[in-house]
Amino acid sequence: MQLTGNYLALAYLVSAILFILGLKGLTHPASARRGNYLAMSGMLVAIIATALDPAVRSYGFIIAGILLGSVIGTVIALKIRMTAMPQLVAALHSFVGLTAVLVAVGTYLTHSRTGNLNTVLMSELFVGTFIGAITFTGSLVAFGKLQGIITGKPLVFRGQHLLNLLIALVMFTSGVQFLLHNEFGALLVMIALALALGILLIVPIGGADMPVVVSMLNSYSGWAAAATGFTLHNNLLIITGALVGFSGAILSYIMSKAMNRSIASIILGGFGSGEGHADTGSSTAGAKGIKTAAVEDAVFLMTNASKVIIVPGYGMAVAQAQHALKELADILEHKGVTVHFAIHPVAGRMPGHMNVLLAEADVPYDHVFEMEEINPEFATADVALVVGANDVTNPAAKSDKSSPIYGMPILDVYKARQIFFIKRSMNPGYSGVENQLFYQDNCSLVFGDAKKVCEKLVVELKAS
Ligand code: NDP
Repeated sequence: MQLTGNYLALAYLVSAILFILGLKGLTHPASARRGNYLAMSGMLVAIIATALDPAVRSYGFIIAGILLGSVIGTVIALKIRMTAMPQLVAALHSFVGLTAVLVAVGTYLTHSRTGNLNTVLMSELFVGTFIGAITFTGSLVAFGKLQGIITGKPLVFRGQHLLNLLIALVMFTSGVQFLLHNEFGALLVMIALALALGILLIVPIGGADMPVVVSMLNSYSGWAAAATGFTLHNNLLIITGALVGFSGAILSYIMSKAMNRSIASIILGGFGSGEGHADTGSSTAGAKGIKTAAVEDAVFLMTNASKVIIVPGYGMAVAQAQHALKELADILEHKGVTVHFAIHPVAGRMPGHMNVLLAEADVPYDHVFEMEEINPEFATADVALVVGANDVTNPAAKSDKSSPIYGMPILDVYKARQIFFIKRSMNPGYSGVENQLFYQDNCSLVFGDAKKVCEKLVVELKAS
């Protein structure tokens, strides 16, 4: 069976609609699962329709690729830790970039042999190769930084931006040379320069900004895929590429807004050590001016509260404390306490990180509130229980103009009557900035691993 003309176009249209509905589903935790199924069905329709395109003449490599890719994908999906998702996404983007370059070079060689080259096709190859090459090496550097293979510290040197500008200029000149004179050598020079530019653009960006960069590279990989779609005359690849390109750009904007950073300042680099554990000099208890509390103190105040707001952060994800936290919330509610969860848009290490973990622990969606909804509630909360969150609660973002996180919107935890802060040490969060909240009269730190402390809280609550 083969799909030709309108039938193929119809199959691609169905697939594109399924992708769009999939994206729509992903906008809310309640519909995210359905969104994923819709997008997966769209991909299945796309693969089957493409396989039935008469242009496909042999199936050997395709089947081998699908089998190999499925095995590798399944193993990765089963083994990957949620906190390592950003680097996985970066690694996958690098493949899209590399594919765009290889398809463009392959297409050029085939068409130049048959004398079938024209200006439109060469312009597509030009765009596809340079975006693809930048995405490839840029994503590899982002992967290396996030995985800790290369330092997360920004690598800055004098004249860096000038050098990048110069390389970009020579790169475009080579591209134009390729376009005007059909010189394969010029195409190769352009690819080499774009590969170098990908590295140079990402190395000055600190680890703290890396997830925004990954989202930007996501956008680039979408445009690279769209360019490949033009080269291969594949409408679905053009549509899918544009969807990825735009959604990546929108996500980068939302993330940078939530971190109060401009996209330009992120691209120019130099912010954030990325190590996320600049020691403030004190390890646990004993740091001057801070109060510590025992699990029993927290249990006593929480059982006597009428409203408790739980603020999860990156530490909850690392400790996998979400199930213990859900049990804790259930017991408190059983005792007549209102329990709400407060989610900051950039809590954790990727957008939606906390929503996914709380959903995994079956925390009802109507107990989970976004920052704008929950902030007015902190003033009426008896207890705010902060579990492994840090930067997203730091009042320095509001009060200290000299702080690197000044201007970042925060959860107004400081307004709660009593705050219990679960973390292991006095180390700061990802931005490396010390949390002023620790020195407030109404704040007590409960030191320990988030999961272990939450489990102890559950045991104590059951006994109370
Ligand atoms: P933070 O990184 O500010 O703080 C996490 C805290 O968790 C640390 O202070 C750490 O303290 C504690 N912690 C780590 N492991 C454990 C554990 N096992 N048990 C208990 N506590 C633990 O996290 P937030 O979620 O508050 O903020 C996210 C940060 O990441 C923001 O700065 C945000 O801008 C940044 N970011 C987020 C992105 C996103 O998309 N979500 C993207 C890019 C950046 P200790 O070591 O003492 O335990």
